[in-house]
Amino acid sequence: MELVISGKFLLNERIFDGYIGIKDGKISKFSLRKLKGDSKIKAEKGQIILPGLVDVHVHLRDFEEYKKETIESGTKAAIHGGITTVFDMPNTKPPIMDEKTLKMREFLFRKKSYADYALGFLLAGNKPAKADFYKIFMGASTGGIYSKNFEEDFRKAPGIVSVHAEDYELIQEYPERPPIVEEVAIKKALKAAEKYKKPLHICHVSTKGGLQEILNKKLPWVSFEVTPHHLFLTRKDYEKNRFLKVYPPLRSEEDRRYLWSRIKEILIIASDHAPHTPEDKEAGSAGLPGLETEVHLLLDAVNKGLITLWDIVEKMSINPARIFGIKNKGWEEGRDADIIIIDMKREWTVKAENFYTKAGWTPYEGWKLKGKVIMTILRGEVVMEEDEIIGKPRGERIVREGSAEGSVGGREER
Ligand SMILES: [Zn+2]
Repeated sequence: MELVISGKFLLNERIFDGYIGIKDGKISKFSLRKLKGDSKIKAEKGQIILPGLVDVHVHLRDFEEYKKETIESGTKAAIHGGITTVFDMPNTKPPIMDEKTLKMREFLFRKKSYADYALGFLLAGNKPAKADFYKIFMGASTGGIYSKNFEEDFRKAPGIVSVHAEDYELIQEYPERPPIVEEVAIKKALKAAEKYKKPLHICHVSTKGGLQEILNKKLPWVSFEVTPHHLFLTRKDYEKNRFLKVYPPLRSEEDRRYLWSRIKEILIIASDHAPHTPEDKEAGSAGLPGLETEVHLLLDAVNKGLITLWDIVEKMSINPARIFGIKNKGWEEGRDADIIIIDMKREWTVKAENFYTKAGWTPYEGWKLKGKVIMTILRGEVVMEEDEIIGKPRGERIVREGSAEGSVGGREER
């Protein structure tokens, strides 16, 4: 082994005290017996070893908006927050809607990314190019581009579609975007998914009605995500702090509680990291930075008994890898050695000044949290330790199932 990590690790819902052997950047063995290795990392008492996490919804800007966030600053923020793979949202400036812009995006990621990445492609009446996933906006959000014919764009997508489900017509009628705007859009999206039986992922579900629709339909090829801000904040917080404007908006306490009541059934948690600066926020931009607080809010929730550590592993590693068909991620032998070490006892206070994102502010400023990511390992190499980013950008694009490098079969159905 080139690296052995020892200590308490979480596997198949249980905590083991043992060893993880890493060879060629992959997990070669989970073992209870001592493994021989050249280099050793030990998780101390109170520390736990988890997989590096996957965030399937991240806006990294760059291109013409490099002053707001760059692939470099955004992926440093990701590994600082325990996230080793980011899904890049394509509503950039210019938007990623053609082959050439997608190639440019890939080139930038190859040069500057500190995390591994999946590349998205925006569909709004244009011709699809080969990407890792496709994004469709049913109504306008940041960037203003939306699909005038969701069903048609969905039908022609060559892979899984992530949809921002807020209905265009209803947004015109109700610019405050009450729950009905999301609920109607989710119904439309589900109808199309039922008709075409193609993989669909519904982004940032925020309402009781919307979540009920999805859970009642139970379509095995439909997945969905919930964001930390819809789990931890409400409209009341927005009324006190206008910077908390986001689409879909923060909801009532009743909606928030409902999301928590179905937490076991929530497939994916994703940040929807949107690094608007304070100046953008003053000017009314919608969206919240979240890469460096996402996992920490969840660790704090584990300490409060609201979820388990295994819930985090499922919703941010195992499920994203399975649903988006990523061959090299997940938490089993043979997959990439993306690992984080967390200290569940560490208490700390959220301060935007300690973050790597260029956003320069956080919705959770001053929050006292218990539980911290203290080390991040990407494919067998330490890339973050105690808030310090280590080494050069070495992010790689994810490997999709069914791709040239030895297929393990089609996408599994849930
Ligand atoms: Zn988004």
